[in-house]
Amino acid sequence: MQSGILINGQWLARSSGVPDINPSDTRDVIEEYSWATAQDAQAAADAAREAMPGWAVVLPEARALPLRRIGDELLARAEELAKMMAREQGKTVREALAEVRRSGETFHYFAGETVRNHGIFTQGLRSGFNICVSREPVGAIAVITPWNLPMSIPAWKIAPALAYGNTVVYKPSELTPGCAWALADIIHRSGLPAGVFNMVMGNGRELGKPLIDLTDAVTFTGSNPTGVAIVSAAAAQMKKVQAELGGKSGLVIDRTANMDLAVEVAFQGAYHGTGQRCTASSRIIVLESVREEFTERLLKRMKSSRVGHALDAATEIGPVIDERQLAKDCEYIDIARNEGAELLSGGERIELTTPGFYLQPALFLTKSNDLRINKEEVFGPVATVTTAHDLEEAIAIANDVHFALSSGIVTNDLIAAEEFRRRSKAAMVTINAPTAGLDFHVPFGGRSPSGYGSREQGLAAQEFYTEYKSSYTNVSGRL
Ligand code: NAD
Repeated sequence: MQSGILINGQWLARSSGVPDINPSDTRDVIEEYSWATAQDAQAAADAAREAMPGWAVVLPEARALPLRRIGDELLARAEELAKMMAREQGKTVREALAEVRRSGETFHYFAGETVRNHGIFTQGLRSGFNICVSREPVGAIAVITPWNLPMSIPAWKIAPALAYGNTVVYKPSELTPGCAWALADIIHRSGLPAGVFNMVMGNGRELGKPLIDLTDAVTFTGSNPTGVAIVSAAAAQMKKVQAELGGKSGLVIDRTANMDLAVEVAFQGAYHGTGQRCTASSRIIVLESVREEFTERLLKRMKSSRVGHALDAATEIGPVIDERQLAKDCEYIDIARNEGAELLSGGERIELTTPGFYLQPALFLTKSNDLRINKEEVFGPVATVTTAHDLEEAIAIANDVHFALSSGIVTNDLIAAEEFRRRSKAAMVTINAPTAGLDFHVPFGGRSPSGYGSREQGLAAQEFYTEYKSSYTNVSGRL
């Protein structure tokens, strides 16, 4: 059994473990990883807090060095790690490769940020006063992550945490321990002092409390109910907390859209990653005059795509992550049918030569945006087409949802694009592109209730992983 517990520079052995199953072939047990106890989580938080003062004063170039090494190794081993990710998580190797590369680039980016942690120097309002505003690390950070982007989300949290002088306790998803172990192993060998990076695999509910209680701040990505529980627990202790949560993105297909592009944007946005993306275009809102042509062509595109084993080069859509998520997807397909949505394609489980969690991507035609299928996050390969009479109505439908993470439009009309960009309530808008989030140098995240606290990535990361200190120096020698 492989250890899932790294505390103070040591991998610890425990007897209870959970098998890591390949969703493309459930007979394939990838590995068994031992799970941490609540006491382990406590020890990991203690180690991170103890290591923090020492790491915080390491000079920026020396802090950059391990980050650069981590990035280098991720990039050098990208193909091998991508195959492992595809086997464990079920995304295609092509998608996994992009994710591993992006994770490596993220570590490189934040290695550079160690020397750009600039503050402000300004004159005070009183004669002879100089003011220096510096940015200091927050402390020991609990990093709690989901399974759908099992390397890039941990990378975009761990890299800035370390770059700005914080220490980390990483709690990965129960469903992707292989990716977590590989990343932790690389970080462990990068030359960081003991205790600066720690990992505890295991049950979120059991490990969550000690992690929140004993660290200085929590960064979380996952579902809304878990996010609310974590934010409430952290806020009750006045701790800094950041949560990136679910979405239900609307993609508008304008009447001027290039149809080839529109179909590809909608197809990739809705179904790549098996629709298991917070930014998935699960609501496609089509202008009436092009609805028939668009829908026909999208259905043709869906027929040409292949659902299959994630490691098979011909596969475009891999399996769903596990039995529980598959049951949830099927439940929503039934809900949609029962509330009167017309199933245009897919929606049935598929048996392949390898036993896995395969689902034919589903497309519904809905007459109203008020259905549950248009309001609640499924997090699977299930999308709807809804008709809008004009751009005004399309914008209203796109905004008529509880979430505020991302949205998009496909159009050749500059004015329509700008109108949509300006009036969308989502935090991220794409124009003629399937999804946001590839660019690690710009802010990523949702507005309430899709996100809480400051954004992630790029310059925005500094907001969460540092605290301001304003110092006032009287250089006049008198008051
Ligand atoms: P989840 O909320 O079930 O779990 C996320 C993590 O939280 C896991 O590591 C889990 O073990 C842990 N956890 C569970 N209960 C906990 C508790 N009480 N205390 C502390 N930790 C706890 O989410 P998931 O199913 O892994 O991920 C899917 C969700 O993530 C979707 O809703 C998706 O939209 C969202 N997501 C959001 C973004 C974004 O950036 N906005 C990105 C990816 C995924």
